[in-house]
Amino acid sequence: MKTHEPLNLSAPHPGPAAPGCADHPPHLVPERTRCLEGLHRDIIECDRCPRLRTYCAEVGQTRVRRYRDQEYWARPVPGFGDPEARLFILGLAPGAHGANRTGRMFTGDDSGRWLYGALYEFGFADRPESVSRDDGLTLTDAYISNVVRCAPPGNKPSPGEIAACRPFLEAELAMLTRVRVVLALGRIAFDTYVRLRRAQGFDPGRIDFRHGAEYRIPGLPVLLSSYHPSRQNTNTGVLTAPMWREIFARARALLDEPS
Ligand code: SF4
Repeated sequence: MKTHEPLNLSAPHPGPAAPGCADHPPHLVPERTRCLEGLHRDIIECDRCPRLRTYCAEVGQTRVRRYRDQEYWARPVPGFGDPEARLFILGLAPGAHGANRTGRMFTGDDSGRWLYGALYEFGFADRPESVSRDDGLTLTDAYISNVVRCAPPGNKPSPGEIAACRPFLEAELAMLTRVRVVLALGRIAFDTYVRLRRAQGFDPGRIDFRHGAEYRIPGLPVLLSSYHPSRQNTNTGVLTAPMWREIFARARALLDEPS
């Protein structure tokens, strides 16, 4: 297996990230680029976490009956959305038969139905459903990422795997220069984001994950937190449709505030 060096994030990005931007035309993109498009390629090629890479590949081979005729993506899943996004959504990990199958964040499972439904309702998506990587769906002003980009067994990445994937999150946040609201879905996403910001020298103070909480950390986008729209939460009533809509209404209101 090829081993990747940690991303070097010390050099500043020359401007807003964009696929094939003027500073990094596709044919000149070095392996370690600071363009979103190049970052996505680095993510797709990543094999830092052997346990997760093996699991994703195995799931892609064995499949489940309802998807047995489909070719699984079975690789790390890059972020998805608008390079000019002001709303950054951070989930946990690709679903084994969701994003690990389709290759797009939150696509192909129940969590995705909740997420894209809300994004459409609040004007961030041009349709209420994300079906596949080539369905033409466009997000406007929103970008979706995950704490880890490979599906973990039992939906539980290890602390080491979260740490290994964190440079990708750091790179995305550095490139998405217009982000004003970060929405963390679930405690692990919340803690990972806060830990990253502390490591970068920001001072979030004493904050903890709570559904509907809103934190204003000096020098950073507003941090919103919500329960993750996993079946475990939505099927049990821990997260209801009105609670979920309220989160997106608040995100929209924050973005509509004059800066
Ligand atoms: S979880 Fe992240 S760091 Fe680990 S192999 Fe996947 S993309 Fe790479």
